[in-house]
Amino acid sequence: MKKGLEKFYDLVDAFESLPTIGKKSAIRLAYHIVMNDSYTGVKIAHSIENALKNIQRCVKCGSMSEHEICEVCLDDRRQKNLMCIVQSAKDIFIIEESKQFDGLYFVIEDLDPDSIDRLLSFVAENGVNEILFAITPSLSNDAFILFIEDKLKDLNIKFNKIAQGVPTGVSLENVDILSLSKAIQSKVNI
Ligand SMILES: [Zn+2]
Repeated sequence: MKKGLEKFYDLVDAFESLPTIGKKSAIRLAYHIVMNDSYTGVKIAHSIENALKNIQRCVKCGSMSEHEICEVCLDDRRQKNLMCIVQSAKDIFIIEESKQFDGLYFVIEDLDPDSIDRLLSFVAENGVNEILFAITPSLSNDAFILFIEDKLKDLNIKFNKIAQGVPTGVSLENVDILSLSKAIQSKVNI
């Protein structure tokens, strides 16, 4: 079957390499685009190319941005002294949707010295004196939080983490908005 349809199976493989897409879905999507809806296929290809060309990380906070500095970092109405630490830029979408936070964000994926230096400059530059860790509870994440707290311990910063309603070991993107809103409202001091 694959012989003579190599280009079709290349497309199936491309879909299958995406998160949450299994073989069956990959075949279904590839078939739909090739046989039923080539217009959508071209549109998707164009959107992907456009997004890859124009979206980058904000040089200050590490979130997604179409410019060197993101909208949140540039927004004067946000509380600069308040910072929310997330482990992935995509967590920012869900926190923004909950409308429970109006400070700045900082994305930290690894605890390498470069990231810690960026974090220290960000804190100093914005006069941050309160940090909310929007990180789901798990043993390794608790160690992650402790490590960062230790690096900032001489700066007189108040540390909180999101509380109730966020299940242990679950990625933030899988937490529903209501639970997350409650978790931010009932943040706990650490
Ligand atoms: Zn930013």
